[in-house]
Amino acid sequence: MMPAYAELLNDKSLSESITACFQCGACTAACPLNMFNGVRLSPRQMLRRMQLGLPTNIDPYLCMMCRACEAVCPRGVKVSEVITALRKIWFKQNRTPAPLTQALWRVYEEGNPWGYSSRLRGRWLDGLDANIAARKSETLLYVGCISSYDIRLQRIAKAVAQLLLKAGVDFTVLGQEERCCGDSIYNTGETDFLEELVQENIGRFNAYGVRRIIAISPHCLRMFRDIYPRYGGEYEALHYTEFLTELLDSGRLAVNASLTAKATYHDPCYLGRYMKIYEQPRKLIENVKGLSFEEMTLSKELALCCGGGGGRILMESKPEERPSNQRVRQAAETGAEILVTTCPYCIVNFEDSAKIQRTPVKVMDLAELLYGAAGGQLG
Ligand code: SF4
Ligand code: SF4
Repeated sequence: MMPAYAELLNDKSLSESITACFQCGACTAACPLNMFNGVRLSPRQMLRRMQLGLPTNIDPYLCMMCRACEAVCPRGVKVSEVITALRKIWFKQNRTPAPLTQALWRVYEEGNPWGYSSRLRGRWLDGLDANIAARKSETLLYVGCISSYDIRLQRIAKAVAQLLLKAGVDFTVLGQEERCCGDSIYNTGETDFLEELVQENIGRFNAYGVRRIIAISPHCLRMFRDIYPRYGGEYEALHYTEFLTELLDSGRLAVNASLTAKATYHDPCYLGRYMKIYEQPRKLIENVKGLSFEEMTLSKELALCCGGGGGRILMESKPEERPSNQRVRQAAETGAEILVTTCPYCIVNFEDSAKIQRTPVKVMDLAELLYGAAGGQLG
């Protein structure tokens, strides 16, 4: 019998990636999983074994889908797509780790991977003095699971909503009706329920007349931009930093924020390496008066992953193996008091690492910085 992974070679794009690899090893050297305790995941070795028709020897669920390997690959090998295809095979073989299959069932039952009640999803709107929930509009602010439920991260949702209101944008949010974008299902390798969920979301978006989706999480943005079109969901999908920059450039948004401090910025993998959104967050930061800024040594396409991508946010990592520990230290080395980022998963991981290591940096989402430094109250 042909080994299951041999079917990957039937897919033209995957087959091209697998055969393009010329074994330089740059990917393995760049992979954040190999920063601690020796080599834990070698894309080079995985690809070689595939080229030779041997069974793969990696756990595809270890991968954080950060694409650091792809950023340095001289042959343009799509390592994360090969690993995603491997996950599909492992899912069919019932080899998906329990936290990810549990998350799948929770999305099925409650619409979010943590199993919070779907009825409470609109709670983040409490205290917002605006009638924005579940009304028809061409522009949808898609909040995402973690920023809808997590009390700390709800501040990001509120800040983005307040900034849009301040700019006079006509938009809607789905509140209690919002469901997971499907990222947590995509990461398991499951495909049937993913399609059902995406189709349901598309139906809901269309019922509200949505044409443009503003995403708070880069992970949701990636789904709307890259995955939804495969199911017929064609929207103008933007990250909130892109949209705020457009508003700034057109004079609709004035960043009346000031803060005397030093900041640095972390490029989330799914915003940076996936979407190439590097300049807009920096431009918005520049507009905060009094804020000095210094880049970390590893920035933009070379930025270190926080460790939360590819579903890893739902799984435990040993404290000594978390790239976020290293990343907050890199932030502190710049002398910055504030580590700004634009992804809720990065916020969770960095705040955890800063607390555990007592690293003297305050972690903030850019929306919180912009709204808070302009005198806005979020909590
Ligand atoms: S960097 Fe690219 S070419 Fe080099 S081993 Fe890795 S996948 Fe192959
Ligand atoms: S996507 Fe990231 S975690 Fe996965 S193999 Fe590449 S560098 Fe390693």
